[in-house]
Amino acid sequence: MCHACDKKPVYKLISGESLCKSCFLDYFEKKVRKTLRVYKLVDKEDSIAVAVSGGKDSLTVLDLLHSIYKENKKIKIQGLLIDEGIDGYRDQCLESTKKFCEERNISLTVVSYEEAFGFKLDNVVEGRKPCSVCGVLRRNLLNSHARKLGVKKLATGHNLDDEAQTILMNQFRRNVEASARLGPITASEAHEGFVPRIKPLYFLSEKEIMTYAFLKGIVREFNECPYNKESYRNQIREMLNQFEELYPGTKHSIVSSFLEILPALKVKEKKEGTVIQKCLQCGEPCSQEICQTCVVLNEIKSSQHSL
Ligand code: SF4
Ligand SMILES: [Zn+2]
Ligand SMILES: [Zn+2]
Repeated sequence: MCHACDKKPVYKLISGESLCKSCFLDYFEKKVRKTLRVYKLVDKEDSIAVAVSGGKDSLTVLDLLHSIYKENKKIKIQGLLIDEGIDGYRDQCLESTKKFCEERNISLTVVSYEEAFGFKLDNVVEGRKPCSVCGVLRRNLLNSHARKLGVKKLATGHNLDDEAQTILMNQFRRNVEASARLGPITASEAHEGFVPRIKPLYFLSEKEIMTYAFLKGIVREFNECPYNKESYRNQIREMLNQFEELYPGTKHSIVSSFLEILPALKVKEKKEGTVIQKCLQCGEPCSQEICQTCVVLNEIKSSQHSL
């Protein structure tokens, strides 16, 4: 029976308590509102672009932020979708996202790799790690287009699982600098060219989001990028899932203990971290003379010329 009422349970929390549909939806939404409030993710007159991929996480964020703030005329929510050019995956997500936004009257901006860089991801992955190329280019387009849209923040669908994976990945690769930029809200003071990022689903697990998205009818089917299996992140993900199965609460412990040391990491990076400057080639903010996007694009261009 549901822990809070007498109805049939649909979800069992890590604490062992079971919740019925309406108590689970309530639990989920309260957790998002608490994250927004405690970490001050949204200011009184914010305009926010939600980075949507068409998956359960980002559509859940868009749906929630839209419904929480729709009566508030001072806060504006819109969608921003990057079309990498992944046949059979992104094209499907694009259609469902367009429909989703039309139904709710949310404005959606779509930017493709093809129009921005002149190629589809599918056409440049041979001999390269798809996610390494994709991640760099995607981050660049999200930031530059959020800036063009004039929004104050970029909201993403990052959840507890994503954050736990990233913390471990940075740890395994000894990348303290990248860890200092994690947390429910990213540093806005790093450089004026960076649009601050917020993660309203920070304390919710992938499983909880999947349940919520299905119960609310936000998504009807699960779509996965065909390149996901090849990624380093996916290996960490599988390892973490095994640990969570054996020791429930592992992911939560990783993120909570990380949040305890995050303020110290931020102080350290402010003192010793690399200075953010403008890329000599494209002018985007970066920590080296040439940004990662230009490095990736230069390599792709030179390999195309040598063919
Ligand atoms: S799984 Fe990799 S290739 Fe696919 S969208 Fe994500 S980063 Fe891009
Ligand atoms: Zn109940
Ligand atoms: Zn550049």
